[in-house]
Amino acid sequence: MITTLVIGGASLIVIGLVVGFLLFSRRKSGGSKSGSALASSLSNEKMKSDIILNTIVDGVMLLDDEQAIQLFNPAAGTITGWEPKEAIGLDYKAVLQLIDDKGIQLDALSDPISKSFSQKITVHDRSTYLQTRSKSILSMDISISPLLDDKGEPRGVVVVFRDISEERKQEAQRADFISTASHEMRTPVAAIEGYLALALNEKVSRVDEKARSFLEKAHESTKHLGELFQDLLTSAKAEDGRLTNHPAVVEMSEFLETLTDGLKFSAQKKGLGVEFVLGSQDSIIDASSTNVVKPLYYVHVDPERVSEVITNIFDNAVKYTESGKVTVGLTGDENVVQVRVADTGPGIPTSDVSHLFQKFYRVDNSATRTIGGTGLGLFICRKIIEMYSGRIWVESEIGKGSTFFINIPRVTREQAEQLKRNESVQLPHISAPGSSI
Ligand code: ADP
Repeated sequence: MITTLVIGGASLIVIGLVVGFLLFSRRKSGGSKSGSALASSLSNEKMKSDIILNTIVDGVMLLDDEQAIQLFNPAAGTITGWEPKEAIGLDYKAVLQLIDDKGIQLDALSDPISKSFSQKITVHDRSTYLQTRSKSILSMDISISPLLDDKGEPRGVVVVFRDISEERKQEAQRADFISTASHEMRTPVAAIEGYLALALNEKVSRVDEKARSFLEKAHESTKHLGELFQDLLTSAKAEDGRLTNHPAVVEMSEFLETLTDGLKFSAQKKGLGVEFVLGSQDSIIDASSTNVVKPLYYVHVDPERVSEVITNIFDNAVKYTESGKVTVGLTGDENVVQVRVADTGPGIPTSDVSHLFQKFYRVDNSATRTIGGTGLGLFICRKIIEMYSGRIWVESEIGKGSTFFINIPRVTREQAEQLKRNESVQLPHISAPGSSI
């Protein structure tokens, strides 16, 4: 019996259909004699699955454990340029030629299908391209779910993909407008902020007390506006995949400890404690000696981007916590590395938790009414983490505090070494002027 991992929305329905299809095919070939009623009900189910798989606009492929195509619906044919009957039985790489934004074929480490196979995880990716049979290049949205048997061994994967080239074009136009508008507005706002700061500087200007209080308010609001434009610019780029991203192998325990060390001052200034916890208690002690063994948690991410995410969450923990402490923790298993940032703040109401990572969402309470913010920080964090096929979420209890979790796919030591070797033979990246944000 084959079971599936959990993934959301339409893909889940498709996987259900594919599993239905599989079960039918197996029972049929197994010559089950469980009666004509069952046979006809299964046949009905198969007919329904066929109808949906044949009419659906998403491409659907089922690969067996040797990565050969076992099911290939008509939409997959339209997108790739391969007839279903030609594609069946072929290795998926012959049909689904996935390339990166420079036109280079994806290697096993960056190919989302290989990743799903090797790590037995569901992967959702919007950063790859497909070179069709006629050599056109299409932008892809691709979801891969492993099919695991009772022992948790992969028996194949279901791949659901669609062409998002048109969507991408529109996103780029929209983001272009937001980028230009926020860039244009940021410049005069920065000038206003600078002049207000000068007006408030006793060494340069003299203002009476009443005017000072008005200017302080204007200065605060202008600062907020400046942050808003910056966040808008970043979120527009995050949405259409134009966020600069230079992944490298990062060993998270050292990285996180250094980052926490740099961040702790803002918390201490507010009288909050800061704690860094590495691994679970039993995983860090080497039984044969008194040495503390630090596990190595490798990930393949842009360290600047991940640092932005952790800084944002840490800053929020400090911003919304009145007393107590902020704990930064790191743990993981063979597949994921997990970072957590816990605070002893007011907590977040359950009804707000599911909206928290949406654009402009702020919890409406007395704290957020007095504490400044744009409601874009967590949205940007989610976009960055999703760029690495990771997940970010929060668990919270009113009056006790909140813990934000970030899961990032872990790379093995061998993969990390291979990636490092690849990095060292590549030329250093030179970013185009003004391309980084
Ligand atoms: P903001 O700029 O408003 O802080 P974010 O996207 O970073 O925007 O956060 C969204 C909202 O989530 C915040 O307005 C706040 O209501 C809530 N929030 C985030 N982090 C915490 C936290 N550690 N404790 C309590 N509430 C939080």
